[in-house]
Amino acid sequence: MATIAANLQAVRERIAGAAAAAGRDPASVTLVAVSKTHAGSLIREAHAAGQRAFGESYVQEAAQKMDALRGLGIEWHLVGPLQSNKTRIAAARFAWVHSIQSERIARRLSEQRPESLAPLNLLVQVNVSGEASKAGVEPRAALPLARIVASLPRLRLRGLMAIGEPRRPRFAEMRKLFERLQGEFEIDTLSMGMSEDMEEAIAEGATLVRIGGAIFGARRAVETAA
Ligand SMILES: *Cc1c(COP(=O)(O)O)cnc(C)c1O
Repeated sequence: MATIAANLQAVRERIAGAAAAAGRDPASVTLVAVSKTHAGSLIREAHAAGQRAFGESYVQEAAQKMDALRGLGIEWHLVGPLQSNKTRIAAARFAWVHSIQSERIARRLSEQRPESLAPLNLLVQVNVSGEASKAGVEPRAALPLARIVASLPRLRLRGLMAIGEPRRPRFAEMRKLFERLQGEFEIDTLSMGMSEDMEEAIAEGATLVRIGGAIFGARRAVETAA
């Protein structure tokens, strides 16, 4: 119990330190605890230590944890890639999807988001490093995709997401793109920064960091996670 709470505290201090160094309010940076591959019991520990937003990468794995942890009031974020055969579950169960990279998936999510729920919060994932191995749309495709997301009734465009290699110039590019989009949309979320690079991301304006290892330790094999 003490470990997760202590890790969370250390991460909160890193966030606060990075925010202060950048002249930013620490409260302007949201912490999403990325719990993929980790057991529900560890999520419970983090929840007991005050954490409310959790990120998962695999829809099926996440759905099992949601069932097991129902009633805790967790805000679930999908941070991993989303295939079209999983959009119905994702639309019904997550509050946020960070990994939008196609119009097709966005349209399905809007059609499938239950009327009983608030619009689904979406981020357009951008591949700012241009590496073929990284997911996301090219920077110049971000604006057209953002326009589509913003036009769909059951979605709420909130901003951009990047998985960068830990290099500050990439984060700076993301920030510029984000600021350009802010001229056209009411968006408030720039999701970038993980365990290794949260300080650089916060220095470049991240409003949401996705932290796994620094809270939960090394990831386990997916098969044993549920
Ligand atoms: C796993 C994952 C994270 C967390 O990474 P850590 O290095 O463990 O902090 C963040 N974002 C995405 C998209 C991930 O898949």
